[in-house]
Amino acid sequence: MFHIYCPYCEELREEEEFHPKGQAHIARPEEPDTCSDEEWGDYLFFRDNPRGIHHEMWLHAVGCRKFFNITRNTVSYEILETYKMGEQPTITAEHLAREEKNAREEKTNNAQVAEGGQQTVGASDAAVASVKGAQA
Ligand SMILES: [Zn+2]
Repeated sequence: MFHIYCPYCEELREEEEFHPKGQAHIARPEEPDTCSDEEWGDYLFFRDNPRGIHHEMWLHAVGCRKFFNITRNTVSYEILETYKMGEQPTITAEHLAREEKNAREEKTNNAQVAEGGQQTVGASDAAVASVKGAQA
């Protein structure tokens, strides 16, 4: 049993209250009549299946019955954040790649500073604090 944070109820609730509803942020073509069959087929049937960060729409079915979005890591199943419909995720694959790159560079810099005998503090606490959502 794990808990998911509902951004509308503003509390952690049992996972059994929720249903996944597929990929989030799928925009309906503005002019369906002028779409090619391929564009319309993509919109209706084709979904991303990334390894890593994925944005999904979920329904709080046995709660407020509202849809919301989840940013989830498809490798670890970890839910990184939840947010209301119409909002944009704060955590994206690009964001994490940039953070990992910064952490690698910082580690390199810290190693150099450590040789000089100075203590350094990691900057990743801010990233952890910005993550809202559910825990396993
Ligand atoms: Zn809810």
